[in-house]
Formats: sequence, C-alpha cells, structure tokens
Amino acid sequence: MAYDPSRAPLGDMPVAEFREHAHTLADWAAGYFEQIETQAVLSQVRPGEIRSALPAHAPELPEPFADLIADLDRLVVPGATHWNHPGFFAYFAITGSAPAVLMDLVSSTLNQQAMLWRTSPVATELEEVTLRWLAQLMHLPQGIEGVIYDTASISTLHALAAAREVAVPDVRTLGLAGRNLPQLRVYCSEHAHSSVDKAVIALGLGHQSLRRIPADAQFRMRTGLLAAAVNEDRDAGLLPIAVVASVGTTSSTSVDDVAAVADVCAREKMWLHVDAAYAGVMAMVPEFEWMRAGFDRADSLVVNPHKWLFTPFDLSVLFTRRMDVIRQAFSLTPEYLKTTEANTVKNLMDTGIQLGRRFRSLKLWAVLRYFGAEGIRARLREHVRLAQLFASWVDADPDWERAAPVPFSVVCFRAAPRGYSGDLDALNQRILETVNKSGDVFLSHTALDGHIVLRLAVGNIRTEERHLRRAWELLTSDI
Ligand SMILES: *Cc1c(COP(=O)(O)O)cnc(C)c1O
Repeated sequence: MAYDPSRAPLGDMPVAEFREHAHTLADWAAGYFEQIETQAVLSQVRPGEIRSALPAHAPELPEPFADLIADLDRLVVPGATHWNHPGFFAYFAITGSAPAVLMDLVSSTLNQQAMLWRTSPVATELEEVTLRWLAQLMHLPQGIEGVIYDTASISTLHALAAAREVAVPDVRTLGLAGRNLPQLRVYCSEHAHSSVDKAVIALGLGHQSLRRIPADAQFRMRTGLLAAAVNEDRDAGLLPIAVVASVGTTSSTSVDDVAAVADVCAREKMWLHVDAAYAGVMAMVPEFEWMRAGFDRADSLVVNPHKWLFTPFDLSVLFTRRMDVIRQAFSLTPEYLKTTEANTVKNLMDTGIQLGRRFRSLKLWAVLRYFGAEGIRARLREHVRLAQLFASWVDADPDWERAAPVPFSVVCFRAAPRGYSGDLDALNQRILETVNKSGDVFLSHTALDGHIVLRLAVGNIRTEERHLRRAWELLTSDI
C-alpha cells in the first residue's frame, strides 16, 4: 500500500513537537532523580515479563510520541535495575551524573561521527584535550596519549593487539596461523578480569596462551612466580609478549606490584598493560600516590570514567605511550576516506578497529568542568571513607568477618556466626538473596580463597552514610 503523506508528512518530528517532548522528558528525568529511592534497586520483574508486555510486531502506522513516554513509567523503569540508586552496592557502583546526562542529549542531537578530523573537528580535538586533562589529573607521564573506546574490554583488546604487533611485526599481513611461529604468551594474575581472556581469544592467540599467575594472601600477583613462569615458557620455546597488571582487581580491588612487574617486562621485552578500569581515577588523589608506582613504565593503561568518574555508561579510556603501534596495527585508509589534511591532523579511525565513533568526550568534559578536580577528589575520598566505615562495622561484629583489605571503596566480607556449624557459603548466598529482595540495596558476591564472600562497592555519587547503615541493618537482621 502506498504511504499516505496526508496522514503523517515525511521528514522528522516537527521541531515544535520536539521542543514540547524535550521539556516533558527533562521533567521526567528530573523526577526520576528526585524519586530514585522509591524504586527497587534490583528490578523485580520476572524473566520474559517485559517481552510479553510488548507487541510482537513493529507498528505499521505512526504512534503518538506521548505513548512512548507513557511506556517509560509503565514498562521501562520497572524493568530497569537502578544503577543510579544510592543503595546500589553491587559489582562496581557507578553514576550517570546529571551534567553528563545533559551532554548525552547534546551528543545525540549533534550526531557526530568522528571517524575523520573533518567529519568532526570538535569531537576529535575535544577528546584529545579532555584526555590530556584526565592524564594530568591522574599524574600520568607527559606525552602519554589517550583514546576513548566503549569499554575496558575493548581498551584491553587494543593494548594486547599492540603487544602482538610488536612481538610479531608482520602479523597484520600474515596472521598467526599456518606459520612457523612459537605460541605467544600473555600473563596476568589469577584475579585479573575476564576481559583479558576474551582479548587473547579474539586476537587469535588461543585461550591457553593466557597464563594466570597465583596471587599472595592479599590477592596480588606474585611477581617472583611471574618471572619464573616467563623463564619456564622461554625454555619451552614459547614467546612471552605481554603482562596485564591489575590496579584494583574486580573481586577484591587488590593492587599488583606494578613497579616489580615493570622490571620483569623491561628485562623480558614484554608489553606492560595496566588494568585500572575501576581504581585508576584514585590516582587523582594525593594520598593515593602509592598506587601510581610503575605507571610511568607502563606501555598502556586502561581507566573507565564510566566506573568511578560519574560518567554515564559507556566511556573507557586507553592511555598509551605507544599509540604509534596501535596506529601501525590498525590504520588503513580506503580511497573514499582520503583527505587533504591527513598529515596535519589526527583521524580517530586510525586508533583502533572501529571506524565511526560517537561524541563521548562531551560527557567527560561536563564531569571534569562541572565538579572540578577538587569536587571529584572530595567525592572519591568520601566513598573511601564510607567503605572504611562499613569495614569497621564488619570488624567490630563477632558474627562477621572481613575477607580482604580495603584499599579503595569495596569491602569483601561474610557472615560467620559464632557457633554456626552449617555451610557458610550457602548461608551467605541466602543472606544475599534476602537482602537484595528488599529493594533498598543491591550487593553482589565473589569467591576468595575458594569461599563465597559478599561484596559491597561504594561508587554512586548519591550514596550517603544512611544507605550503608540500611545495608548493614538488612544484612545483620538476617542471621
Ligand atoms: C569492570 C572491569 C573491567 C571491564 O570493564 P568493561 O568496561 O565493562 O569492559 C575490566 N577490568 C577491571 C579491573 C574491571 O573492574
């Protein structure tokens, strides 16, 4: 059937209508933030509930936009787990802060596609400038370059692609298969993030190329064992290419001895990648200078502003002293993308796999300007204080025990009631489930030393002491 333009004209939503809905949604978003604590943190929908509430087919005829807005409260909000809720303590607590949320609207409005400098001079240069600001705030070495990817997984993938490029210079042309090459090796601690596994899989190194090194009693990579493993692998004819050191592991936020790992990497000519996805931002805070030891010797480092820097998902930053290697690995310019200014500007498409990219730096720019370095440091310090306070409650209660040190804002702990002879793992899992059903708080778990432990992560900008008190009250009322 032919389209009938008399019913709805072609072209976009009329600007007057856009303005009206934009105002409505601005009020809606403000109301959401205002009333966030009335929501259950962990969504209480059942699997399939949302799917079955939706039509099986897309509408043939236009629908009023107001119907979409109505569905936000009816369907979308109840189906969301509220990462913006101050009682969110699971995984790593994050924040979509208001100034950055507003800039996300601008990003979509301008719809920049920053593959080439000329396709978005501002997205290209603002990314460069905001990342230079961030590098300075984190006291990273001069001359380090940054690039924004969506997630740490992709940042780490690019870092290890660079390591592969250095170790096997013709890999870009010849690949790895069907050649007389030793098996490559990448090392990380047993506590390193699973994104390292996915990177070696995606790069064609094979999962068994990743060797996980045992950690010490405080969950830090045992550097002596790393050096021994590299020697052993060399003797066996393998080719060690990189080490991923963790600064803030996902389970317990432990910190590897990056300086000692850097010594091994220098000696063995391996790429050193630092995974500081969560904790990296603490390098901004003077009392945390200790965590920067060895940063100046890293070839690359990943930090996620979408984790602990109040930036809405997604925005990960890969810093590297050797962006030239990433360009060497991935830059490729077909005729239709050749430009006359190519020699005088940076084209972001050269710094990775993806061609186009969104204007993500806008929201980071907003965070850095609106809160200011002082304001950011104060909020980070407050999160550390809150975590220490929670840890002190655990330590003071004879029915609970702490499972790891608290260097940043994450507490690992578990119930171990006096005289309890049952299965502690099962008990803690039961407590977790009951507490999460409350809707007031949401915690997650991990395993340390083979046991289930609960994890409380502070990182949401709206979290106050009373939210932690509520979490502790719910946890302790249950045993
Ligand atoms: C969260 C996390 C990652 C993965 O982050 P994504 O951005 O979701 O890919 C990697 N490493 C560490 C240490 C993390 O905490």
